[in-house]
Formats: sequence, structure tokens, C-alpha cells
Amino acid sequence: MAKKLKGIAAAPGVAIAPVVHFHTTLDHIPTYKVGPGSVAAEKQRLSQAVAEVAAGLLALQKELTDQIARHDVRIYDAQLAILHDPTFRRDVENEIGAQGVNLEVALQRVIARYESVFAAMESTAMRERAADVRDVGRQLVGALLAKARTKYIANGQDYLFAADEFLPSDAGLLDRKHIRGIVTAHGGKYSHGAILARSMGIPAVVGIEDVMLESTTGTTAILDGDAGVVILEPTWEDLNHYDRLLRERRGLESRLAELRLQPPVTTDGTQVSLQANVEGVQDLQALDMASIAGIGLFRTEFAFMERRQFPTEDEQVAMYRRAIDSAQGKVVTFRTLDVGGDKPLGYFSMPEERNPVLGWRGIRLCLDWPDILYTQMRAMLRAAAGGRARIMLPMITSRSEVVRCREVLQQLVDDLAAAGVPYDPKIGLGVMVEVPVVVAVLDDILPIVDFVSVGTNDLVQYLLAVDRDNQRVAKMYDPFHPGVLRVLQQIAGAAAAAGRSASICGEIAGDHWFTPLLVGLGFRELSMAPVFLPRVKLMLRSFSVDECRDLAARAVAMQSAAAVRRLVQEKIRVRWDRFVGGSHEEARP
Ligand code: PEP
Ligand code: MG
Repeated sequence: MAKKLKGIAAAPGVAIAPVVHFHTTLDHIPTYKVGPGSVAAEKQRLSQAVAEVAAGLLALQKELTDQIARHDVRIYDAQLAILHDPTFRRDVENEIGAQGVNLEVALQRVIARYESVFAAMESTAMRERAADVRDVGRQLVGALLAKARTKYIANGQDYLFAADEFLPSDAGLLDRKHIRGIVTAHGGKYSHGAILARSMGIPAVVGIEDVMLESTTGTTAILDGDAGVVILEPTWEDLNHYDRLLRERRGLESRLAELRLQPPVTTDGTQVSLQANVEGVQDLQALDMASIAGIGLFRTEFAFMERRQFPTEDEQVAMYRRAIDSAQGKVVTFRTLDVGGDKPLGYFSMPEERNPVLGWRGIRLCLDWPDILYTQMRAMLRAAAGGRARIMLPMITSRSEVVRCREVLQQLVDDLAAAGVPYDPKIGLGVMVEVPVVVAVLDDILPIVDFVSVGTNDLVQYLLAVDRDNQRVAKMYDPFHPGVLRVLQQIAGAAAAAGRSASICGEIAGDHWFTPLLVGLGFRELSMAPVFLPRVKLMLRSFSVDECRDLAARAVAMQSAAAVRRLVQEKIRVRWDRFVGGSHEEARP
């Protein structure tokens, strides 16, 4: 029986393929049938997991010997005894053999049985053993899951990646030749995982809490990244329906592709610069430079995250130069490292934070560790010699932070000049406007920067106090909120008055339902995932600047996001439908 699960549409496109589960948390464990031929392999996995957990416990016990009471160190003896208990082992092995279930499931069942026996005992000491049993089970399953989350080789089979969440560092797990879609239990449309999926052109649906429970590895599914729907075990009718949609979509894409070399101008001839967001050097090959004005956001942290240690200055020069060379004389905007929040660096230890998005991230971290900033900016200056580049600072909150970064830049320029090393003396320095307070002090910051770029992903999250990664509040994350539009208007106005360019590089820049609004609010530079360029260009070419201004003026005066959405729908729908001809996608903003 087909089962339809509703989530958040995170990256456009449709895919039909079997699901493969990847596990990050112990909430949902892998579940599959084990035939008689595979029992020995499961037993072998048990031995390995037991050895690994036992080694970890012994190491921990040793480390704690001088720090906690002797009596408490013995807690670990109890756990080691369970691990090495022959009855426990036999019970798990019997469960695998007799029930034909995989090791994780067998462990969960046996542990649950033990736990209930201990929990029902009279003596408090024995009841406490229940917690030890549970902890041992958790550690064993944890060790097994950590092993399972390595690069996946699809053996020539297309597949859908299913997991609790898709983190930026997970991009390395994917078999890029065969991955057809991504579906996750958690996350929002503006999470970095979703941004990466769009940039890789992989359809994605996020925030389906049931997906890990309702499907097992191997279940065939249809993933509809436009409607935010996943259909498990689809019927023939579903398959036929989606087959037709896929054909329609290909037709639409090829008509949109005809716009490729048309200029990005409004009907009255006003030029809008359309640029690309890039998440790493591997995106550069696919960039169609003829259809864009440059790279408006190069998120350098993704290249750092793929590595095992910090890239050296020379390695960074090589990486940035590749981007500049690919841009063929067009501008490349390199953002300095924006790690922290949901973008940890495996080799750089960051403290656990209760509110990481309000914590030690972006420029805050780089100013505390100036070596990182020096090396990165020096590499950018060197790479830009003979090309066109700009440096952009993330998570700026005050003028004094910009002043400090300017001083660093000046120092580096002086050093390079003194050493006779080629660099770009005209490199631009700009800031992301993504922390709300910056809007209030923009007049102080604009005179000391060359440009600003609005990071609406974070700006909206902070303005509305809605976590961009949390599916439970995803409905409240609404960039159509009139308050957000008024803030955007303020930014465009301040930048124009100061004679500085203001672009948008957050995800709404690539959402064609926003295009006329953003032009009407005063923005003339939009940077987005390349997949959205044709749709945005189509919208641009459908409106005059006066129409856009009129639309924006009406929208900012409204009192609810729903009213703005209705207005946008009414204005855009007719022109979009004329082109699309009633296709199923982009049904609503
Ligand atoms: C933003 O915040 O809008 C932005 C472009 O940066 P990121 O999504 O990487 O936080
Ligand atoms: Mg941001």
C-alpha cells in the first residue's frame, strides 16, 4: 500500500528510486532481514562492536581513575561485565539467527528484555543495573552506526538518501553518480544541508519525522521536491502520474534553458546582475559563466569541511585561483570562513554550545583566532592578482569588527608589497548583512566597505527568532513577513544613499516568487544556486521596474505575510502560468 508522507520542499525536482538509510542518532536504527548466509557476518560485527566499546570503556576508566572516587570507577566494571557476559552474547546471537533480524534490532530487543527484568527487581542496586544495560546497548548501537555512516557505494543502483538530517559534512557520503534525492526527518528549507542539495541539483524533501520509521532500506519511493512529498511503495497510478510530470518538467526545463543567453533585464531595460552561489571547487566545472555576471557568494567553509586539516596558504591560493580562473574575468566574492552553528570543522575543536547559532561562529571565531583570518585573506589577495575578487565578512555585528578586519587587510597588503609578492591592490571588502542590529548601524559601516550582501537566511532567522534548521517552526520562518520586507527596503535605501552596491545572496534571491519584490525594493544584484537562474530571469523579463516598485510598495504596507503572499501570487501567477502552461510545479509561493 502506498504511503504519502508530507514534508518541506527543500530542493526542486522529482526522483524515483529505492531508499537507503543513513543513521546519525539512535532514535531510528537500521532495520533489515538477515538470511542464514549472513548470520556469521552479523556475529562478526557484534564481536567488533563489543571490542570497540570495551576499549573505549577501559580508556575512560583509566582517564577517570584519579578524578573520581574508586567506588564510582567500578561502574565501568559493571558495564564491561555485561559486554563480556556469554549469556548476553548468546541471547543476541540467537535473536539474529532465530528471528532473521539484523544486529542492531537484535541488540535493541535483547537489551529491552534485560532492562525490564532488572527494572522489576526489588533491590535498588539491581534496578540501577537496568540503566547500565541500557547504556551498554546505546554504546554498541552507537559504535555500529558510526561505522555505517561512511561513504556509500551504490554499486550502479540509483538511490534516495534517507537520514535523520543531512549535514554539510555528509556531502562526502554520497555516491554522486547515483544519488537521486535526499529525504530527512529533521531540518528546514534554509538549513545548510538543503542549500547544499539545491547547489548539487539533487531534489530534496526535509522535515518528515516519520521517514525513518515508515520506510526501511530498499523501499521504493517517489520523492517530489517541488511539492515536499514522499510516496513510499507507490502504486502504478502514482508512478504513471510522476512519469508524466517528469516528462513535463523536462519540457519546461528545455524551454527555460532557451533563456540562457537572454539578458537579465526588466521589460523597460533595467539590468539586474544575476550571480551564482558556489559551495566548493567542484561546483565550478558546472558553472555556465556566459549566463551569469559572476560568483556572488563563494562559501569557503565547505571546502575547509571536506578536508582533514586546515588548508595551507598555498593550498588556499590554488583553490581561490581556480575559482577566479573559472570566472573568466567576472567577479568572485569569497566569503571568509563561516564555521560554527550547524557547520562544524572536524579538525578544529569547538566547545559544545547551548545556542550555537548565537554562539562562536563566523567572524567572531576568526577574530579570536586571527591566524585563520590572516592566512585566508592573504591567500585571497594573492589569488586575486590579475583577476577580479572581493572579500566578504560573515556575521558582522558592528563597525569595530569591520575596522579590525580592514586593519588586518591593510597589514597584509603592506607585507605582500614589501615582500614583492603579487596581489590584487584593488580587492573589494564587504560585509554580510545577516545580524539584524547591523541594519541599525549600516550608516556607520557603509563608508568603510565597498559593498554589502544580505544574507536573508540568517537575517530572517534572527529577525523572527525562528531556527532555520527546525522543522517544527518551519511554518513561522517566513521571508514574506512585511517586517522582513521593510528591513530589506531599509538596507537597499541606505546602500543607495551611500553609493554602495547591495546584493542579496540568501536563498530568497533564487526564489522567483520574490524576484519582482526584490527589484521593487531596490536590489539590482541577486546571487543564487545556479539551478534557479532561469526561473529568476524569466520573472525579471516579465515585469517593468515600475510594476516591481508598485508591488513592493503595496507589500511593505501590508500587515501579514499571508496578505503579501496573496498579492505576489495574484501578480506573478498569470505571467508564470503563461510560460509554464499549468504544470504541477511552483503551484504557490
Ligand atoms: C545567509 O545567511 O543568508 C547566507 C547566505 O549565509 P549562510 O546560508 O551560509 O548562513
Ligand atoms: Mg548566514
